[in-house]
Amino acid sequence: MFMRTKAALILVLIVLVITAISFITNYLFSRQSITDAVDKDLSLAINFADKLVSAKMQLIKANGATVAERLLRTSSSKEMTEVMSVEIDRFPEFNALTVFDQNLGIVANFGVPVKSAELLEESHYVQMAYNGESVIPTTHYDPETNDFIMHVFVPMTSRMAMVGTIAGFTFSDLIRNYRVWQTGSILILDQEGTIIADKLDESVLQRLNPILEAKTSPEDREILSMGEMAAKILSSETGTGSFFKNEIEYICRYKRVTGTTGGWHVLVMAPMKENPGFQLRQDLIYSALFFLVIGFLLSIFVSPFVVKPFEKIEEQAEKILESHERTNVMLGDIKERDRLLKDALIETRNANNAKSDFLARMSHEMRTPLNAIIGLSRLCLEANGATDEIYSNLEKVYGAGEILLSTVNDILDISKIEAGKFQLVPNEYSIPSLINDTVTQNILRIGEKPVKFILDIEPSLPTLLYGDELRIKQLFNNLLSNAFKYTRAGTIELGIRCEQAPGTQAVWMTIRVKDSGIGIKPDKIKKLFLDYSQVDINVNRKIEGTGLGLSITKKITEMMDGFVTVESEYGKGSEFTAKIKQEFVSDSVIGEEVVNNLKKFKYTDQKRRKKSRLVRKQMPHARVLVVDDVITNIDVAKGMLTPYGIQIDCASSGQEAIDAICAGKPKYDAVFMDHMMPEMDGIEATRIIREEIGTEYAENVPIIALTANAIVGNEEMFLKKGFQAFISKPIDVIELDTILNIWIRNSIFQDFLIEGINFMEGIDRYSTEENYLNLIRSFCLHTPEKLDQIRTLSQVNGEASLFEETAGISLSDYMVIVHGLKGSCYGISAYAAGKEAEKLENASRAGDIKAVLKGNAAFILLMESLLLDLSGLLQKTSGKEGKPKRSAPDSTLLSRLLENAREYKAATMEQIIKQLESFEYESGADLVAWIRSQMNNLEYDAIRNRLTEERQVNV
Ligand code: ADP
Repeated sequence: MFMRTKAALILVLIVLVITAISFITNYLFSRQSITDAVDKDLSLAINFADKLVSAKMQLIKANGATVAERLLRTSSSKEMTEVMSVEIDRFPEFNALTVFDQNLGIVANFGVPVKSAELLEESHYVQMAYNGESVIPTTHYDPETNDFIMHVFVPMTSRMAMVGTIAGFTFSDLIRNYRVWQTGSILILDQEGTIIADKLDESVLQRLNPILEAKTSPEDREILSMGEMAAKILSSETGTGSFFKNEIEYICRYKRVTGTTGGWHVLVMAPMKENPGFQLRQDLIYSALFFLVIGFLLSIFVSPFVVKPFEKIEEQAEKILESHERTNVMLGDIKERDRLLKDALIETRNANNAKSDFLARMSHEMRTPLNAIIGLSRLCLEANGATDEIYSNLEKVYGAGEILLSTVNDILDISKIEAGKFQLVPNEYSIPSLINDTVTQNILRIGEKPVKFILDIEPSLPTLLYGDELRIKQLFNNLLSNAFKYTRAGTIELGIRCEQAPGTQAVWMTIRVKDSGIGIKPDKIKKLFLDYSQVDINVNRKIEGTGLGLSITKKITEMMDGFVTVESEYGKGSEFTAKIKQEFVSDSVIGEEVVNNLKKFKYTDQKRRKKSRLVRKQMPHARVLVVDDVITNIDVAKGMLTPYGIQIDCASSGQEAIDAICAGKPKYDAVFMDHMMPEMDGIEATRIIREEIGTEYAENVPIIALTANAIVGNEEMFLKKGFQAFISKPIDVIELDTILNIWIRNSIFQDFLIEGINFMEGIDRYSTEENYLNLIRSFCLHTPEKLDQIRTLSQVNGEASLFEETAGISLSDYMVIVHGLKGSCYGISAYAAGKEAEKLENASRAGDIKAVLKGNAAFILLMESLLLDLSGLLQKTSGKEGKPKRSAPDSTLLSRLLENAREYKAATMEQIIKQLESFEYESGADLVAWIRSQMNNLEYDAIRNRLTEERQVNV
C-alpha cells in the first residue's frame, strides 16, 4: 500500500514537474508574442481613433468654414441670421451660430447665443480664430440651462469670427460604439486633461479631469495612478501606459490628435486581462491545471498498475530477503555443521589413528608371543630326542601358532584395506611354481578325508606373468583352503586358464575352485564377500576361520581389475570363480611336460612331514648383536642363531645398541634390531647409528629390522630408514637363514679358513675388509723376496764361523730378516707363522745356529703355504665381473635345496637357487645351471636324486 502511495506521489510529482516546465517554457515563449500582439492591437486602435477624431474635427471645422464663408457673403446682421437658419438646416451638428466682433459683441446669431463670459473664458481660442485658425477648445456645461455644449471657433475676418455651438457629446457619440477587445473604449482628453469624449456620458458631462482629481484625492491610489497617467499623456506625443480603475488594470495607448491645435489627446484603453495574450496565458494556466488534475487522477489510477511489477519485485525481493535470511540461517547451520563435521572428522581421524595404533600394538602384542610359540616350537621340533608324543604335541602347538598367525594376518589385511594401505607389489613370477606352492600347501588339509584333488590346467598356460605373486597366492590359498575346509568327501577341482587380451599386454587369468562340499544356502551367498561374515555358523562351528578370507579375496580381485563370483548348491558343493588381470611377460608356455609333472604329484598321498631339519652353515667367526626389549624374543633369536655357531651379543634397548656400535669393539657382522621398543624405537636407534656416530663401521654395519608390527612392516620403509633388510615376527627359520646367508656370509673371509691366521681379528684391526685385504696383498707381494734371502740357509751345514760363507748372509742380517717377517706375519694376524719367525729371531739373536738351521726350512715351508692360501684368497676376491667368486657351490645351500625339493617348496627353492646363482664358481657352475633348468620344468624328483647322489659322494 505504502508503495502505491509512493508511486502515485512520484507520478504526481513527475506530472507536476512536466507541467511546470511546459508551462514556464510556454509562458516565456508566449510573453514576447503577447507583448507583440497587444502592441499591434493598441497601435491599430489608437491610429483608428486618431483618424476618427481628427476626421470629425476637420469635418466640423470644414463645415464651420463653409458656413462662415456664406455668412461673409451677407451684408447685414439680419441677412446673416437668415443665412444661419438655412445653414443650420444644412449642417445639423450645429445647434446655434454666433458671429461676434473684436470686442466680443454679437454681430448676428441664430439659436442660443454664446455667453460673453464663455467667450472671455475662451478668449485665447477667439484670438486664434481672429488669427485665421479654426479651433475646437473643450466642453462646457451650464448648470442653469443644463446645456452641455462645445464651441467651434471659425475665423471670418480679422475683426469678425464665428462660433458654432455643437452638442457636448458630439465626440462621445462618435467613439461610443467602438470597442477595444471586449470592453475597452476610446477616450479624448483636452489640453487640460479633462475628459471630453468617453463612452460614459457621466464623466464627460462632469468634465472629469484625472489630474485635478489626483490633486484633490492624493490618498486614493487608483485616482493617483489615473492622474499620473493623464499627466503623462498630456506631456507626450504618443505612448503606452497602464493604470488601475475599479481595481482593474487597464492598458492604454495614447496619441496627440492629428491636426489639433488645442492639444487634444485621444487614447484607447482596455482591461489588461482582455488582451488576447492574457487570454492565452489564462488558457495556458487552465490547460496546465487541467493536465495537472488529469495527471494527478491518472497517477492515482495508474499507480496500482505501475506499482504492480514493482510490488512483484518487492514481493520477490522480500522473498529473496527472506530466503537470504533463511540462507544465512542455513549458512550458519552449515557452518555449524561444517564445524561439527570437522570435529567429527578430527575425532574419526583420531579414532582411526587410535585404531591403527591399536592394530599396530595388537599386531605387536600378538606376534611377540607368537614369535615365541612358533619359533621355539619349531626349534624344539628340530631338536633331537623328543618322544613321539612330545613331538606330536609340539606339532600341534606349532600348527595352532600358524593358524593364529594367519588370523592376525587376515585382520591386518582387512584393516589395511580399510585404511587404503593395501597395495600391490608386482613382480615377475612363475606360474608352475605358483600352482605347485599353493597346491602343496593346501593339499595337506585333506588329511585322512576321502577327497580327490583334480588339477585342470592346459599346456598353453604362460610360464611367466607379471603381477603381485604374494597376493595371488593369498587368493589361491583363500579359495583352496575353504574348499578343503568345507569338503568332507568327494572332489576338489582347481582350474586355471589364461587369455591374452588381443592387442594389449593384459593377460586375464581365470581361477576356478570347485568342490563337492557342504555348499552355501542361497540367502547367505550375498553376505559371503562381506567382512567378518562367516555364514552357516552352526554347521561350521567346528571349522576355524574369521570370515575375512573372501572379503580379502574380493578386494584382491578388484585391485587386479577383476572380480570373484560364486555358484553353490546347499549340500552339494560350491564353485568359486575369480578373474584377475596380469601382465604378459613372454611367449613361453608351460608345455605338456610341466602339466604332467604338476598333475603327477600324488597330492592325496602327501602327509604333513615332520619339519625337516635345516642344514645350517656354520659361521663361527660371525658376531651379531640382537637388540630387543623382550627377553623371550632375545631367547628366540638366540635359539635360532645358535645353530649357526654365531657369536651372539644382546642389547635390551636402542641406547645400548648405539653404545655398543659406538664402542666399535667387538665389531658386529650384523645387528638384529627390534622395531618397537620403549623410549627409543629401532628406527630412531638406527638413525642415530647411521647419522650421528660418524664411523665408517657405524654407517655400514648391516642392520636387520625385526618387526612384530606388520601394519607398517613393509620392506621399503625399513630400507629407506637405513636398514638392510627386515624379518617379520614370528621369525621364520627359512627367512632368517636366507638373511644370514646374504648379510653375514657375504664376508669374503668366511669361505677361507686358513689355519694360523685370525681373519676376524685382522678385519677388526684394520676396520674394513678392504684395508685388511690391501695389507695381505702387500704381504704377498714383498714376502717371497725375503724368503728367497733366507732360503740358501738350507744348504748350510757346518760351523757357525762358516755360516756367513755358506749361507751368503750374516747371522745378524738373518735376524733382521726374520724379525721383519715376524712383524709382517703378526701384522696380518698370521700368528702361527709369526710365532715361528719369532723363534728364529730369538735363536739367531742368541747365536744358536743349530736351532736356526733346524727351524728355517720348516718356517719357509709354512710361509710358502701361507702365501699360497693368501694368493688364493686374493685371486677369488678380485673377480672382475660383478659376481663374487667361490670355489664351488655352497654345500649348505645345496642341502637346503634338497630339503625343499623333497617338500616341493618351489618358492623357497627359487630363493635358494637365486642365492646360488649370485656367485661365480671355479667348479660346479654346471650343477647350478642344471638345477635351474630342472626347476623350470618342475623336475623336482630329478633334482632330489642328483643332489642326494652328490651328497653321498661328498660325504
Ligand atoms: P573363513 O575364514 O571363515 O573361511 P571366508 O571369508 O573365507 O572366511 O568365508 C566366509 C564363509 O563362507 C565361511 O565361513 C563359510 O561359511 C563360507 N564358505 C566359503 N567357502 C566355502 C565353500 N567352499 N563351501 C562352503 N562354504 C564356504
